[in-house]
Amino acid sequence: MKEYKLGSIVMMKKAHPCGSNEFEITRVGADIKIKCCKCGHTIMLPRIEFNRKIKKIINF
Ligand SMILES: [Zn+2]
Repeated sequence: MKEYKLGSIVMMKKAHPCGSNEFEITRVGADIKIKCCKCGHTIMLPRIEFNRKIKKIINF
């Protein structure tokens, strides 16, 4: 079970086009919203998809 919460920094399996694969969680619900730590771009993902794409929690 991967634990995360609002504000957690996570590493995704696939890097963002800007080159960073670290994201901050900015919304937790049925959908998870993450913000790229480098360029600030936000992405919304269904929780199931997010759980599949996350690599590890960097900062809980
Ligand atoms: Zn980015």
